[in-house]
Amino acid sequence: MTKQHEQLHRDETVLRSMGMTELRSIYEDMGLTQEELAILTRPRRIVTATFPVTLKNGRIRMFLGHRVLYNDARGPAKGGIRFHPDLTVEDVSELAFLMALKCAVVNIPFGGSKGGVKVNPAELDSHELEQVTRAYIRAVADDIGPYKDIPAPDVYTDERTMAWILDEYERIMRRHQPAVVTGKPPALGGIEARRYSTALGGVHVLEEAMKERGLTPKGARAAVQGFGNVGENMARLLHERGCRVVAVSDVNGGTANPSGLDIEALRRHKAGSGTVAGFSGGKRISNEELLAVDCEILVPAALSNQLHAGNAKEVKASIVLELANGPTTVDADDMFYARDIMVVPDILANAGGVVVSYFEWVQNLSNDFWPEEKVLKRLHRTMTTAFSDVHARCRGGKCRLRKAAYELGVRRILDAERLRGNL
Ligand code: GLU
Repeated sequence: MTKQHEQLHRDETVLRSMGMTELRSIYEDMGLTQEELAILTRPRRIVTATFPVTLKNGRIRMFLGHRVLYNDARGPAKGGIRFHPDLTVEDVSELAFLMALKCAVVNIPFGGSKGGVKVNPAELDSHELEQVTRAYIRAVADDIGPYKDIPAPDVYTDERTMAWILDEYERIMRRHQPAVVTGKPPALGGIEARRYSTALGGVHVLEEAMKERGLTPKGARAAVQGFGNVGENMARLLHERGCRVVAVSDVNGGTANPSGLDIEALRRHKAGSGTVAGFSGGKRISNEELLAVDCEILVPAALSNQLHAGNAKEVKASIVLELANGPTTVDADDMFYARDIMVVPDILANAGGVVVSYFEWVQNLSNDFWPEEKVLKRLHRTMTTAFSDVHARCRGGKCRLRKAAYELGVRRILDAERLRGNL
């Protein structure tokens, strides 16, 4: 073990993650120096706050929130805010690192950050969630801003949450600042297409990946794990392109139909019952069974670590498109590589969301609103360019796309640090 390896091993807080494992595996190939590693393995700022919120039963409860700015060499930091009962500061840091890489891979002028509150949103009503959101923003208000760090939606937060964030921040600053947050409702300066941009960006890179495997969406079979905003839009967009969506699932279970699910009917079923499970147009399956269905494309669009050593060998798909952040463990990634399953990594596959966030930020700063056609055209161009940049780095697909994407992101961040005189 080299000295650099040892140093990385010692730093437990940053080593537990997929991101850092990947970084460790590429650092020798890239010949990274000690200084470069030091810059890449540490977040620039971690803000942790506790704040009281009065619940509807009259009790006051303390909540815990974090905001991590990982790196901002390429521009203001960018990254979502998630609400999750198991959230830790280590998770937030890893996700912030992934955001820095993601923005660099798609070449938008942002650094990376992430934030979150340790809360189970299902236990609170809308008014309580609003109070939690506002209290969190009051706690981190000095650390966010249009030219500092710009939040957006993430797991269990949405446009409504972003509207509260905007309103609370503007009250504190006593002026309009629409560019402080993206993923806002269109009536408050958001972009209509932001609602489905993560899925659409995923479709653009998937189409490029399919060309490499001699496939086309028409007639191909796909399984989508997760039927929240991203999963549902992905199923719809794939269906519109003639792809047979043969299985979908959510936390309550899934539904499968080898001839293809009727996505519109499924959407209506979910709107009525709150879940895709029990849909009459398909057979009931579990989340684990979904990962193993016969298909060409598997889209994990739920939480992290869903594909692991225990189930990777059951996967039949030839392409895994990571719409969730970190859905594949290191072991599963190795197994997919050995079986020649192409994994389109999260920092490329799900970057469509942050790309349209960037367009929203530009529009808010310039007060100039683009026609939807321009938004969609630029999203397509940005995503396909990123895919070809990554693919080219991969010697025409001979290495892992994940490794190539990391190398590209790391290289671009380090170039910016060097130009700033930090290396
Ligand atoms: N939360 C999304 C992500 O992980 C979007 C971030 C953004 O738009 O800033 O990429």
